Formats: sequence, C-alpha cells, structure tokens
Amino acid sequence: MIPVIALVGRPNVGKSTLFNCLTRSRDALVADYAGLTRDRKYGEGELLGRKFMVIDTGGISGEEEGIDSVMAGQSLQAIEEADAVMFLVDCKAGLTPADEMIANHLRMRSKPTFVVANKVDGTNPDIALAPFYEMGMGEIFPTTATHRKGVRSLMEIVLERF
Ligand code: GDP
Ligand code: MG
Repeated sequence: MIPVIALVGRPNVGKSTLFNCLTRSRDALVADYAGLTRDRKYGEGELLGRKFMVIDTGGISGEEEGIDSVMAGQSLQAIEEADAVMFLVDCKAGLTPADEMIANHLRMRSKPTFVVANKVDGTNPDIALAPFYEMGMGEIFPTTATHRKGVRSLMEIVLERF
C-alpha cells in the first residue's frame, strides 16, 4: 500500500516547502490523477525505502474569515482522500485561532493526524512547542522544512503506521 498524506494548515506555515522537501522536486507535480481537481498538488515521495504520495493544499487565500477560509473545500477534500494528515503549524507565529479551527475539524475525523511544528529554527523548541501541545492532539513533531530538518524523524513515525 502506498500511503497518501495530506498537508494541511493555514497559509504560510510551510506546507509547500515541506511538500517540495518530501517530493524532492519543485516539479514533482502529478497533474492528472483522474477525477482530482488541480487546486491540490499531488507528488510522489520515497524515504526510508518506502513510497508515499503527498497532497499539498495550496491556494487558500486566507483573506476570508472563519472555518471556510482555513478549511477551504480543497483542504477538506484532501483530508478525505488521504490515509494520514500532517497538520502544520508555525513556531514563529505561535498558536492562532485559525490553527484551533483546523484542530477542531481534524479532531472530528478519525484520520491519523500528525501535528508538525514547522519553522522551529531560531526558537527554543521547549518554549515554542508548548502552546501547540495545549491543542491535545498528541505528539508534536518539530521541523525546519527549509533545511529538511526533522523531516526524516517525522516520516519514520508516519510510515510506521502503514
Ligand atoms: P504554505 O503557504 O503553507 O505553503 O507555506 P510556504 O511553503 O509557501 O512557506 C511560506 C514561507 O515560510 C516561505 O517564505 C518559506 O520559505 C518559509 N518557511 C517554510 N518553512 C520554513 C522553516 O522551516 N523555517 C523558516 N524560517 N521559514 C520557513
Ligand atoms: Mg503553499
């Protein structure tokens, strides 16, 4: 089985950076999976001898208000299509109301969810991660997607589930 992993989170947290990191290419875009819309980018990755698919949910403007903007249709669709969800938050921005709305949505789903605290670079991880633990969504995985840091440990845990 090739697990499908959806990357969700509010704009600017680093979803596309992590997508590129996991697929190792800016062009690892698979445009024509039958029946799937193009607002979502599908890429193939391989790590630790395992293949997987990643869905990047781009194109959320962030200009609308409330759950509709952060959980725009394509993100909801990606969550439905996925076997696991990586929920990205931003250590530099801290916990935001939009993060909490996404967390609430994910809690209602039974999908395995991994909270990824990106942009941990230049922070004290103990302090930066603490507010995210308050969401009560289990372990938080710190990453610096721009430097591929933490990604391997994260994927070890994710792939263990499949
Ligand atoms: P998206 O909107 O969630 O897809 O976010 P992007 O991947 O486009 O990243 C938004 C911005 O955050 C870009 O300028 C990235 O270079 C930056 N960024 C992504 N990951 C990191 C990180 O780990 N550390 C830092 N400092 N910046 C990052
Ligand atoms: Mg993006």
